[in-house]
Amino acid sequence: MAFCNDTESGLKAIIAIHNTNRGPALGGCRMWPYESDDEALTDALRLSRGMTYKSALAGLDMGGGKSVIIGDAKTMKSEALFRAMGRFVDSLGGRYSIAEDVGISVADVQTMAQETEFVAGTPERGAGDPSPSTAYGVYMGIRAAVAQRLNRASVSDITVAVQGLGSVGWNLCKYLADDGAKLIVTDIDQAAVARAVKSFGAVAVAPDAIYGVEADVFAPCALGAVINDETLKVLQTPIVAGSSNNQLAEPRHGTELHTRGILYAPDYVINAGGVINISHEGPAYDQERAFAHVAKIHDTLTEIFKRSAASGVPTFQAADRLAEERFQRVSLASSAA
Ligand code: NAD
Repeated sequence: MAFCNDTESGLKAIIAIHNTNRGPALGGCRMWPYESDDEALTDALRLSRGMTYKSALAGLDMGGGKSVIIGDAKTMKSEALFRAMGRFVDSLGGRYSIAEDVGISVADVQTMAQETEFVAGTPERGAGDPSPSTAYGVYMGIRAAVAQRLNRASVSDITVAVQGLGSVGWNLCKYLADDGAKLIVTDIDQAAVARAVKSFGAVAVAPDAIYGVEADVFAPCALGAVINDETLKVLQTPIVAGSSNNQLAEPRHGTELHTRGILYAPDYVINAGGVINISHEGPAYDQERAFAHVAKIHDTLTEIFKRSAASGVPTFQAADRLAEERFQRVSLASSAA
């Protein structure tokens, strides 16, 4: 844990490194007007832990880290602030690499890059926008879920209800439509909805209606906490698989999905395509190789689904156990060496 204070620029930040058994920590930087230092610390710890699990299941030789800058992203940004943050990252000598997250833009990371080489996800490093690779991973994850739950080898004629037609949702619709899936879509942006109807022959529904539609898959690609007491009253798809972070309002909602026989693709596993793609960046970036790695999300989810079915443990817990095995196994191997 590093506490970063720079009086000249007004920077107040925390860098949390949760685990480096698998390699140096990678994780985004969040800028948020936290009410207290304690709140910022709790968030940094929680987010860095999440990155350890995500990296382990994405098969990356990386650990989990995250940083938070305490402040209002609308009013407190400055070159001096980001350069000071870059210097703090640099002082860790590569144990942590920083990337964008809520409140931080690619341009902000580029400013930090003037002070440190330990940055990820900037255009100069070759991997580009993470959304298409995230969408590809979600598409492969949906295929794994459809095979497991519906015993179908492809998504042809499968109906997918996509919530959110932003960077990920739109690209996901393309993959699905190309493969013969039928789409039901919603967004608060009516222009995006109209484009999806025209481009993919999708059926449009109102934002609140998406939870109760009759479909094979519900793919949340907009908001967190969409699996909650209210939506569970109307949800009728046998599969939930989408890109949104933190889809379960509370862990008990994941248990409820399991009890009802609804197959849930744990969010941090299915939405790891972007971080996998970034792990391939550098002068030798090869999109084909990166996407082949993203496609492995299919096999990881299949293993999680099978473990869940065999043990009776909900998928979100089976995923955590598998992640723990993967980063603890590395630690045992290195302590035995
Ligand atoms: P985005 O901002 O590009 O798109 C989100 C879309 O959701 C927008 O079109 C927005 O209008 C729509 N939306 C907002 N509120 C809505 C509502 N109530 N009902 C219906 N639609 C609504 O975001 P994105 O990059 O496509 O990411 C989508 C989700 O996936 C987010 O939860 C994000 O955290 C997660 N995610 C994204 C990536 C990535 O690579 N972009 C990686 C991992 C996770």
